[in-house]
Amino acid sequence: MVYIVFLGAPGAGKGTQAASMARKLKLAHIATGDLFRQALERGTELGLKAKSYMEKGVLVPDQITIDMVLERISAPDSGGGAVFDGFPRNLKQAEALGEALARQGKAIDKAVYIKVSEEELLERLSGRRVCRQCQAPCHMSDSPPRVEGRCDRCGGELSQRPAATEVSIKKRLEVYSDETAPLIDYYRRAGKLLEVAGEGGVEVVGNRIVAALGGERL
Ligand code: ADP
Ligand code: ZN
Repeated sequence: MVYIVFLGAPGAGKGTQAASMARKLKLAHIATGDLFRQALERGTELGLKAKSYMEKGVLVPDQITIDMVLERISAPDSGGGAVFDGFPRNLKQAEALGEALARQGKAIDKAVYIKVSEEELLERLSGRRVCRQCQAPCHMSDSPPRVEGRCDRCGGELSQRPAATEVSIKKRLEVYSDETAPLIDYYRRAGKLLEVAGEGGVEVVGNRIVAALGGERL
């Protein structure tokens, strides 16, 4: 059983890397942003609850998020372990996750922190677009849409995230540095942190992560 947490600022590339590591290690990929977007797309109660927070770029309340994740890790495909992406996002979530795993005699094995300079983050984030209909993200230079201005997933119209203004990008980075960045120390103190440089292409960074995890006995 292997449980890995991915940490990094918005724009650090942790979603891409977490998905690829989950495939390589045959672990479930649990991405809370994706779970919320799916719920929103389906129009479920969870989606409606999460909507306004997501639009503002602030965190969805902890209890909603924690309940959703705990339900997800009890699903059958989480049996071999999981890669967490976008969760935990603050100390309360980290503690809730640790306690829930401990109740089953399990624990987080490693936290992979993808480190990118603030300057680079701002540049990457301002190229992001999001689908007006299903909220799926894409990036104009890294993963441009197949049809210009249209979502690859549902064909909906792409907009700059209402968020993708300079101000709200700053807001999301601020939420990250206030609430999520303390988790770097939290996992470092627990002896679980692996720090990886996030500059460079997707493959280069992926290889660094494989090398860092490969040196560990999981
Ligand atoms: P980003 O847009 O920063 O890449 P995600 O796609 O991971 O982030 O998440 C989108 C939004 O979903 C966040 O801005 C937040 O409102 C909500 N969200 C995702 N994960 C969490 C979490 N662990 N706790 C609270 N809210 C979350
Ligand atoms: Zn779409």
